[in-house]
Amino acid sequence: MTGATTDRLIVVGAGPKAIAVAVKAFVLAGLGLRTPQVTVIEPNAVGGNWLESGGWTNGRHRLGTSPEKDAGFPYHSTAFGGRNAEINDRMRAFSWNAFLIDRGTYAEWIDRGRPSPQHHLWASYLGWIARKIDLDLVRGRVESVGVDDGRWAVRVIAADGRLADLAADRLMMTGPGSSERTLADHPRVLSVAEFWRLAARSELPSSSRAAVIGGGETAGSALDELLHHDVLTVSVISPNATIYTRGESYFENSLYSNPVKWRSLSLAERRDVVRRTDRGVFSVRVQETLLADERVAHLQGRVTRIVPEADGLALTLHNELRPDQTHAFDLVIDATGGDPLWFFEMFDQGATDLAELALGGPISQSRVESSIGYDLALENLEPPLYLPNLAGLAQGPGFPNLSSLGELSDRVLAPVSVGGVTQELRDPAHFPTTART
Ligand SMILES: Cc1cc2nc3c(=O)[nH]c(=O)nc-3n(C[C@H](O)[C@H](O)[C@H](O)COP(=O)(O)OP(=O)(O)OC[C@H]3O[C@@H](n4cnc5c(N)ncnc54)[C@H](O)[C@@H]3O)c2cc1C
Repeated sequence: MTGATTDRLIVVGAGPKAIAVAVKAFVLAGLGLRTPQVTVIEPNAVGGNWLESGGWTNGRHRLGTSPEKDAGFPYHSTAFGGRNAEINDRMRAFSWNAFLIDRGTYAEWIDRGRPSPQHHLWASYLGWIARKIDLDLVRGRVESVGVDDGRWAVRVIAADGRLADLAADRLMMTGPGSSERTLADHPRVLSVAEFWRLAARSELPSSSRAAVIGGGETAGSALDELLHHDVLTVSVISPNATIYTRGESYFENSLYSNPVKWRSLSLAERRDVVRRTDRGVFSVRVQETLLADERVAHLQGRVTRIVPEADGLALTLHNELRPDQTHAFDLVIDATGGDPLWFFEMFDQGATDLAELALGGPISQSRVESSIGYDLALENLEPPLYLPNLAGLAQGPGFPNLSSLGELSDRVLAPVSVGGVTQELRDPAHFPTTART
């Protein structure tokens, strides 16, 4: 299990997942362990989606989860035999606490009661790690993905229009895709990115009846901001019967931090946990703000139609077992979040064919979600394609978010020894049982 390899892992997007994998690879290489060379491609800054320029936040809203769920959390590597303790120890140099100590603000943070950092500070933490490990960062936007001679062929376009073609043995996709999407093309229907642009300039149109479509973190942050502007009422529209608060008890959190039990749950049980704790839920802090504000109400339903009217927009809401209802608004924010399959749009025909062959049919969210292996890659696909954002259902609810970035990087980077021969981990059945404690 020693010696540097030349295999290259390209990560699309320099968010927390890319940084978690890159820093773990840095630590493994420092210990002389087998690890791919990690190259990260990012058009914005490191942690770009946590800054105003990324279009998902204004950077001043606060993290919903604890920052101690950082790039190394839960500091419990079990995949590297006798070297696990050293790895955990070296990873501590890149923790949230180490970042604060380095900035000289650790004592202040403790004394203030460990507040959740604003998103821009979280981005600074990620940037700090990137600098410490001298991250191999390519500035540009991935434009297309193909397969050439058994390797990923990734085309990157830089801000000045120059193109670069990179080859990789493995590829990892991160992030939610574009923040510019809207359900309807109308000046009073704002994408998340447009909402934050206008809010930053205090140019949000005043509204007597606003709607925020979506029940997750994106909607929560937008709503939190909207209430500071000129609105008389806000309806939060989501398909659920109510707005759930993120479950934060030990029992719920432990499933996120340590997904060992996850595979023993039925699919129905797993969906239930995700529904109650992650997808379509607001953080406790956002929920508290909303409860106290009598301008906010919840409307259940899936928006199926948006029709412009003389003085606004008519939204049709669909609910199973009930007739459709129409409600009028004068401002609509589409905060339904990203498209989990966004990156497949960049795949050329060859790469798409390969993915469909691995999936046994056309690309769909349910097919992809049920085909993610232990290593967080799509099963039956060579070269490997890691999709942690779609690994929640199959492998653990913490992989799509920030809840177990250390476990995520272990899964992606762990080698496996079968019969004394070191292989990449592709099948949990081959996982050496002695390696897990
Ligand atoms: C407002 C908001 C608040 C959230 N708060 C929390 C929270 O508190 N806790 C939590 O666990 N989760 C939270 N989430 C969910 C969060 O998105 C994920 O947990 C986490 O950011 C995902 O990390 P990531 O590395 O996959 O992607 P991101 O941090 O989203 O990074 C993706 C990167 O990809 C880049 N990119 C996009 N397109 C391309 C391209 N074509 N080529 C190259 N790069 C590209 C982007 O610029 C971006 O920097 C929040 C989400 C939102 C929208």
